[in-house]
Amino acid sequence: MLTGLSVHELAGRFRRKEATPTQAARAYLDRITALDPKIKAYMTVTADRALAQAAAADARFQSGRPLGLLDGIPLAIKDVLCTRGIRTTCSSRILENFVPPYDATVVTKLLDAGAVILGKLNMDEFAMGSSTENSAFFTTRNPWDLARVPGGSSGGAAAAVAADLAAATLGTDTGGSIRQPAAFCGRVGLKPTYGRVSRYGLVAFASSLDQVGPFGKDVRDAALVLQAIAGHDPMDSTSVDVGVPDYSAELEGGVKGLRIGIPAEYFIEGLDPEVEAAVRAAVETLRGLGAESQSVSLPHTEYGLAAYYVIAPAEASSNLARYDGVKYGLRVPGARDLIDMYSRTRGAGFGAEVKRRVMLGTYALSAGYYDAYYGKALRVRTLVQRDFQRAFERVDVIVAPTTPGVAFKMGEREDPLQMYLNDVFTIPVNLAGLPGVSIPGGFTQTGLPVGLQIIGKAFDEATVLRVARAYEAATAWHERKPELTA
Ligand code: GLN
Repeated sequence: MLTGLSVHELAGRFRRKEATPTQAARAYLDRITALDPKIKAYMTVTADRALAQAAAADARFQSGRPLGLLDGIPLAIKDVLCTRGIRTTCSSRILENFVPPYDATVVTKLLDAGAVILGKLNMDEFAMGSSTENSAFFTTRNPWDLARVPGGSSGGAAAAVAADLAAATLGTDTGGSIRQPAAFCGRVGLKPTYGRVSRYGLVAFASSLDQVGPFGKDVRDAALVLQAIAGHDPMDSTSVDVGVPDYSAELEGGVKGLRIGIPAEYFIEGLDPEVEAAVRAAVETLRGLGAESQSVSLPHTEYGLAAYYVIAPAEASSNLARYDGVKYGLRVPGARDLIDMYSRTRGAGFGAEVKRRVMLGTYALSAGYYDAYYGKALRVRTLVQRDFQRAFERVDVIVAPTTPGVAFKMGEREDPLQMYLNDVFTIPVNLAGLPGVSIPGGFTQTGLPVGLQIIGKAFDEATVLRVARAYEAATAWHERKPELTA
């Protein structure tokens, strides 16, 4: 089945003329029709456009001039990235009918690489959440157990790849939103270094943290998609002008002599024993492949979560001020005056979690409290950054769990604090701006995937991917697929 193949396998079929992009696009669209009513990964399916893009790719292969390894590959995109002429909702009522007049740079780059875009993927509203339960429209299901969440906020992007509803996808990660759902869905999810990938056309949540990255069925696919989207963009002043290495070329280099750090502070009370066992076994596997491991200390880890939940809402409260019923998106009619229109629109357009964050953030930034909350959080952020700097003087990568537990049941985490605790191992990486990947690191007794997180130095995605690939090649976790029938 074409939908079961990885990007690199599918690219091989196209090259050898054993399959065409149109066949692949149709296979995915048929599977979406059959299965997505169960999984609910897609917010919008763009079947006609996808088939037109696939036909253009067919012609390139027929003329012997394909554009590269992504040519004709069916991909899908989190609904937080602008797509010209295709509605971009951020899973929010306030943007329910928003149709952007331009493509995000990452979308342009995928289209330039020949990719076929199947549609837009469900998420937590404005990327705030860890389960997709905050989507204003519906909750995505975990393909491994439909009663459980796929993680979030890029839950649709992770579930789509896990259920073979797209060959690979794009998500975004502000505090863990690529790595956590990748862990919950048993797939590969990479958050690049802050500045590695353009955010032009990404609807902003917390601008000092947001980053776009790929989900793949395996490490090679994540490397291929990262290759296509990475690089400096004059349209995004936070994108950094550093060279992008050939990630695929360095992938098979192995880990002999590589120094791996194990952060003591990531093995805490509350860590699921099965997750801990899987991560410790993974370290042994890497040692068996020639890596050296040592304990490192990231002493400010426990303060990262609190700092994030001040900084991210503060930035969100500012970024979300633009949804005022005037410029775009929803406007609730019947208001007495302008202020009444603002409050009716924002009251009806935002969900509970978004309102909570806007209020928290506004409070944290208000005169008299700014230093006590926002200023303090920024100082903690610096301490977290220094922790990593010190650790990376001694090691090349850090290996840790992605999340304290595996996918939880829908409706199980109603207390926001319980939900926030999910992010304790992913947030410090965002605060420090570093690259991190989550890859399949095993399964629990009950058959739920466990995520293994590999964290690297700034702009050293190549080493992160090389370690990930070495582990993947030595294990078979990524080959396991959820059992799904329409
Ligand atoms: N779960 C975290 C939050 O709710 C992270 C979200 C994200 O990375 N977009 O903020």
